[in-house]
Amino acid sequence: MPRRCTVCDHSERHSIDEALVSGAPYRSVAKRFELSESAVYRHKTEHLPAHLLKAREAEEAARADDLLDQVRNLQAHALAILERAEETGDLRTALAAISQARGNLELLGKLAGELDERPMVNLNVSPQWLELRAVIVGALEPHPPAHRAVLRALESVGNG
Ligand SMILES: [Zn+2]
Repeated sequence: MPRRCTVCDHSERHSIDEALVSGAPYRSVAKRFELSESAVYRHKTEHLPAHLLKAREAEEAARADDLLDQVRNLQAHALAILERAEETGDLRTALAAISQARGNLELLGKLAGELDERPMVNLNVSPQWLELRAVIVGALEPHPPAHRAVLRALESVGNG
């Protein structure tokens, strides 16, 4: 069994990591948190890089989720406008809403492309994307022209 790391197990590990990241010498960090110098040194060289990588991935995933949420909101608005416009026979506004909805899909496609370049997240298989896609396609079923346009846009996203 590997030896436990007294720094990883430390209740103030985040502060220790922060101090090490900010460039504090491991000797002074060891003193400050009452740890052995060798433990801090080993932690810095063997464990800290993995912690940093993990934190960065979590941050990027959060950022991607945030973007997805925003586009999802835009899309909900566009579809609501489309519905109202069709009810009142306002085809001009309906067309504008369709084009807006298509723009949102293109945005999603770009977002998917951006995320695809990273090994961590594949939007094409992410449950949120599949759910969103199903919601969009389903919501447009009563509006055949919009439905066709969106399906075309989705296909081009899939091929792209
Ligand atoms: Zn450690």
